[in-house]
Amino acid sequence: MHELSIISSVVDSVIETLAAYPGARVKEVRLRVGALSAVIEDSLQFCYEIATEDTPLAGSKLVVNILPVVMHCEPCGADVEIASLQSFRCPRCGESVADLKQGRELEIDSIEIDEVEETV
Ligand SMILES: [Zn+2]
Repeated sequence: MHELSIISSVVDSVIETLAAYPGARVKEVRLRVGALSAVIEDSLQFCYEIATEDTPLAGSKLVVNILPVVMHCEPCGADVEIASLQSFRCPRCGESVADLKQGRELEIDSIEIDEVEETV
């Protein structure tokens, strides 16, 4: 499954980050996912639950931020948001656009952790 391999690499890199914070627990992981990356949020959530079992991420929350598709329109000289994934046309002038600025992202936006207080 596409989503499972994505989540596995997300979990791996979070665990790597955690190495700098011994004893910390992950509360929330936020992802930035472009509308064109063809992932299903429900599948991401499902895979996240499986992939985080028995890891320091267990019980944490996955937040998926879907980013709209943004293309650059030459005639308008502007970056425009494309509402329909069926036709890549500028909503301002109607010209077809092909210069993708945003929409294929698949990255960790931020990680929220609970640092365990050190006892003296
Ligand atoms: Zn335009």
